[in-house]
Amino acid sequence: MHDLIIIGGGPAGTSAAISAARGGARVLLLERGRFPRHKVCGEFVSAESLGLLTNLLDEQHADLLRDAVRIPQARVFLDGRIVQALVDPPAASIARLDLDAALWRSAINAGVDARQQFTVKSIAGSGPFRIAASDGECEARALVNASGRWSTLNRPPAENGTHREKWLGIKAHFAEEVSSPSVDLYFFDGGYCGVQPVSLRRDNASAGRVNASAMVRADVASTLPEVFALHPALRERSRGWTALSDPVSTSPLIFRHPQPEREGVLMVGDAAGFVDPFVGDGISLALRSGSLAANCLAPFLAGDASLADATARYRTIYQQSLLPVFRASSKIRRMLVLPTSVRRPLLFLLESSPAITNYLVRKTR
Ligand SMILES: Cc1cc2nc3c(=O)[nH]c(=O)nc-3n(C[C@H](O)[C@H](O)[C@H](O)COP(=O)(O)OP(=O)(O)OC[C@H]3O[C@@H](n4cnc5c(N)ncnc54)[C@H](O)[C@@H]3O)c2cc1C
Repeated sequence: MHDLIIIGGGPAGTSAAISAARGGARVLLLERGRFPRHKVCGEFVSAESLGLLTNLLDEQHADLLRDAVRIPQARVFLDGRIVQALVDPPAASIARLDLDAALWRSAINAGVDARQQFTVKSIAGSGPFRIAASDGECEARALVNASGRWSTLNRPPAENGTHREKWLGIKAHFAEEVSSPSVDLYFFDGGYCGVQPVSLRRDNASAGRVNASAMVRADVASTLPEVFALHPALRERSRGWTALSDPVSTSPLIFRHPQPEREGVLMVGDAAGFVDPFVGDGISLALRSGSLAANCLAPFLAGDASLADATARYRTIYQQSLLPVFRASSKIRRMLVLPTSVRRPLLFLLESSPAITNYLVRKTR
């Protein structure tokens, strides 16, 4: 019997595991895949969670954050215009290949029993919980589901096949001679592509590395070259790129109202709710909700509160502190899909009034 089982070893699962283990809990962390691995993501880590990330990573991995490219600017390329905004304080750009592996190692170093290539197939009970996995069964007093956006464990049956539009995520790294430290979002009908340097060219060294990550409707494009061809400025920019990694993709991408708890199981990260990727907050929400879940479970694990109290507390704090990010992102999404005749004058206003743009960006944080 463990104190806590966590399903999924991404940023949400490792954040919960490290926080709970440091608080003295016996934690079992189960991950279907194997680290290091590339992951579809823009790799923009917003400033809101950099303090928490510094705290979660152990000393051996401190250089990951110290050496990360800082992103103080965002540029939106839409309808032939470029709207610029300050990212203040700056975000960090960290390849998921490195970030997820560093968090996984930090969990092990914090005393977590962390097992890779271990797929959880089903959950039974409502506290204690029993899980059936590829390698047998395990039991715990509490359970955190950090299995991501789309796993067999958190797919609501009612949503199967009910979505008309299928959206894909695709990403790869490319060599680029000269990049500016900016997150550049190229919008086109049927999606967008984000481009951001994950390492910059240094004097006399090889070219820098950029991450290109797209969210696109499946009937519009299914490869990155097809995506690049959909935006004139991106087509031009990508002409000189050389691929540095194989593309990875994921599907479907579905937005739904966040659900922080299900039958006594604390849902964290994308398993609780998937936020629009262009706001660049998914990793931050994952880290914050993971650590919040561990903190809310601590009194229960210490015998000072019931599981029902712990889950109720998590639900309340999640709704107060994390739900506003979902609301802000859906407001921006609504603006981007406005008819072009309404959107154009709005973009003109934003392009010529940086103060208004910066204010709006601040309001989304
Ligand atoms: C196109 C795109 C661009 C994005 N860009 C950004 C960005 O720039 N910045 C940002 O902050 N966010 C971005 N995101 C969102 C971000 O990637 C996610 O929010 C983040 O990965 C969520 O972390 P997580 O730990 O909840 O889930 P994940 O990182 O998905 O981790 C879940 C883990 O659970 C494991 N798992 C699943 N099922 C099981 C099972 N049954 N048993 C065991 N293990 C299991 C998986 O293998 C996986 O490792 C983007 C997303 C997309 C699609």
